[in-house]
Amino acid sequence: MIQDKIKTRKTLTALCGSLRARKKVIGFTSGAFDLMHAGHADYLEQAKALCDILIVGVNTDASVQKYKGANRPVVPLKQRMILVAALESVDYVFSFKERRNEKNIEVLKPNYYIKAGDYSENQLTSREIVEKYGGEVRLIPLRQSVSTSALIDKIQSMTGLPEERIVAFEDTVHIRRRPAKPGPAVFLDRDGTINEEVLYLHEPEQFKMLPNVARGIKQFQDMGYRIIVITNQPGIGIGYYTVHDFFAVNRTMLRHLSKAGILVDKIYFCPHAKSEQCECRKPAQALISRAKEDLNLDMANSIIIGDRTGDMEAGKRAGMTTILVKTGFKGADGEFPGKPDYYAKDLLDAAQWVLKRERRS
Ligand SMILES: [Zn+2]
Repeated sequence: MIQDKIKTRKTLTALCGSLRARKKVIGFTSGAFDLMHAGHADYLEQAKALCDILIVGVNTDASVQKYKGANRPVVPLKQRMILVAALESVDYVFSFKERRNEKNIEVLKPNYYIKAGDYSENQLTSREIVEKYGGEVRLIPLRQSVSTSALIDKIQSMTGLPEERIVAFEDTVHIRRRPAKPGPAVFLDRDGTINEEVLYLHEPEQFKMLPNVARGIKQFQDMGYRIIVITNQPGIGIGYYTVHDFFAVNRTMLRHLSKAGILVDKIYFCPHAKSEQCECRKPAQALISRAKEDLNLDMANSIIIGDRTGDMEAGKRAGMTTILVKTGFKGADGEFPGKPDYYAKDLLDAAQWVLKRERRS
């Protein structure tokens, strides 16, 4: 019976004691299991193959929301637990509110702590706790290339109002419309952060994506961040190139990113020369304020990433987390003092740092 498999962590702690006494091999894994799909079923089947008894922890709604964004989970906890419990591979299910598994591992002491194999092993901070009592961490590669986020995108593309799907390349790009609930965004500088720094870049042929950029941005998108590009383009103001040249470069960038499954919500740019002393050139706040209004952003949970100190200063003034990438100018422009919250090798490193930090909180 499905209901018989759903327990509290306290009950399971006691049960694990008697299972251990009977020399049963206990496996433990966890997840959100929002919109259950074939990837979940396959993963849990492989997990079960490692042990006699498979116990699955399911994240509470509040913890999923914190990690995946305001619109998640789609399916509430009780229903998610029922679906996980319905699988033949699963013996017991419980819910937990922490973002990480330390507490679960400490009390259940499973023989195997099982994780999906898409994290590198040294990112597993729980390893030490598992090994302390003689348990092992096991990683299972994900074989099904299906994800809940991809399912949601597909559903949205089928049911969304047509205007939500319009991709306007001219002026600014606007793919998704203003959500009812505030959510976080990642503000990405363009030149030197997404693509190789080229002085007054204005020819699409000169646009070269930096390594790991698409993977990094995709991770932010999967974590529930809106994707915003925010860029100073003084070359327009001084007449070095036109706004249409700028748009042409953006089109190339958007093509690269959309191939990787990334939807940029909007591109904001300042077309003024520094000498014009406008309100929008980073670190000035006009573009950020407009983005906040356009996309209903939760600034305290938003992040700015760039290669210049002006990007960091702009983020600081807006109350965002600041990440300096060691690409482009690498922060060596020296225009503004102060340190970013994190120095990242590239955008993927930035995304992984954020992911790790979110798991910890
Ligand atoms: Zn401006």
